[in-house]
Amino acid sequence: MTLSPQEKAIILESIRDIPDFPKPGIVFKDITTLLNKPVAFRTLMEHLEARYRSYDLDFVAGIDARGFIFGAALADRLGVGFVPVRKKGKLPYTTVSEKYSLEYGFDEVEIHIDAFGENGQCNGTPAKVLLIDDLIATGGTAKAAVNLIDKVGAECVEACFVMELDFLKGRETISAPVYSVLQID
Ligand code: AMP
Repeated sequence: MTLSPQEKAIILESIRDIPDFPKPGIVFKDITTLLNKPVAFRTLMEHLEARYRSYDLDFVAGIDARGFIFGAALADRLGVGFVPVRKKGKLPYTTVSEKYSLEYGFDEVEIHIDAFGENGQCNGTPAKVLLIDDLIATGGTAKAAVNLIDKVGAECVEACFVMELDFLKGRETISAPVYSVLQID
């Protein structure tokens, strides 16, 4: 279930660094170069499938937008439902929303009120949800997404990221257990 150093290297080396995007001082981790390399993408997805096979999940929830790609692929492998956590104003049905702060101002994420079933329940107990995104930086987005899962009555059993920017200590802000495939310092 743990990745070998070679497998880790295949995934890490497939991700491209773009300096000063979207603004000066940010090194953007570009996962499009992972997605277009079948061996790297499959190595990652096989690892995530092996890790979460035993979690008895009801849903995988992916964060807008790159979390949709990994989340939907993983949900399909595990045979569970996929739920998108979207930026404000994109979902058509009744939503629950959560604001979070950015460097300047606020952003907001939403899910459908019935995304995990009525009152977030599966067979009378809170639905077990895995949250996934490509990267955790400050943790603000993922924290808001975990709060949304709680708000509708479901349970976030783990928050999973392909990459974790260790030095920002984002995991400390998340109330659920956190797992990252690659740690970047
Ligand atoms: P945060 O809320 O600070 O943890 O930021 C996480 C969100 O912003 C994720 O949805 C990431 O896709 C995106 N993000 C933040 N920093 C980067 C980065 N350096 N490279 C790529 N995506 C990033």
